[in-house]
Amino acid sequence: MSPESRNQKSEIRGQSAAGIPTSGYADLHLHSHYSDGTFTPEEIVARGKKHGLGALALTDHDTVEGCEAMAIECAKAGIEFVVGTELTSEHRGNELHILAYYVDPNNERLVREISKFQIVRQQRIREMVAAINKLGVPLNADDVFALANCRSPGRPHVARALIKAGLCRTLDEAFERFLKKGRPAWVPKAKMSALDAIQLIHQAGGLAVMAHPGLNRTDESIPELADAGLDGIECFHTKHPLVTSSRYVEFATKLNLLVTGGSDCHGMSKGKPLIGTVRLAREHYDKLKARAAEKKTSTTNAHQ
Ligand code: AMP
Ligand code: FE
Ligand code: FE
Ligand code: ZN
Repeated sequence: MSPESRNQKSEIRGQSAAGIPTSGYADLHLHSHYSDGTFTPEEIVARGKKHGLGALALTDHDTVEGCEAMAIECAKAGIEFVVGTELTSEHRGNELHILAYYVDPNNERLVREISKFQIVRQQRIREMVAAINKLGVPLNADDVFALANCRSPGRPHVARALIKAGLCRTLDEAFERFLKKGRPAWVPKAKMSALDAIQLIHQAGGLAVMAHPGLNRTDESIPELADAGLDGIECFHTKHPLVTSSRYVEFATKLNLLVTGGSDCHGMSKGKPLIGTVRLAREHYDKLKARAAEKKTSTTNAHQ
């Protein structure tokens, strides 16, 4: 392959042949300490700036709480900001994550629905800690909540609290011994139906994108969800090898869905920070932004 044609292919993928981002512009999948990430919005933006990113979306699990602070930091840094959240959902018995972009963070129904899931998450922490206690491991639920210090806590907070209390050495150990599916302290998580999630996002003025399809058994569901209004697919993701990304770009093109991408950075909680490792090409970001603007205009007109 000539260097030119290799470069052309890279442009399509937004990555070089060596996997090093070339035309990268946006990271649309980021978690902060408002869910199970470790960075503050300020730290995310500082790192985004260092990596030369032009647009960032905050996609904390089941919350939009960090978006206000992130918007302020992005404005200061001259970076475009996209309000987001990641909703845990399911379709035909399979778990899948739906990313919401450009939603109104004050939309009443959105706030009400996600706060229900936050309460369920808090209850689930208590159940996981009770199961851990039953095994004779003296973890305190209040210590988990104090460490999480957010409304949308998850298993990584339990794992980190176990380490802090000297009851486990590593995150992997905590997941292997207690928290992984099938382990004694695993508690299933309540999930929104994917169809409801899409509808919830749309009524809040946003776009619904299937997160990291390569990590879930969801390929067969994509056409059906597209018919139900799914707007895009997260083709570029840290855990998608290039062949997987290319396959989803093809899939998206065929179904006229938007192409998105992001690192799914959780700060330091999964070893090294991932921000900067996945970059979405500007053309894809611009299409997403334009689609959101179109949608807002048509909704406004319909209401006049
Ligand atoms: P939850 O939303 O409470 O079910 O927790 C899901 C989070 O736990 C996701 O961010 C996963 O990436 C993370 N997670 C799952 N398995 C592991 C593991 N073995 N080590 C560290 N984090 C993990
Ligand atoms: Fe997470
Ligand atoms: Fe996810
Ligand atoms: Zn995520």
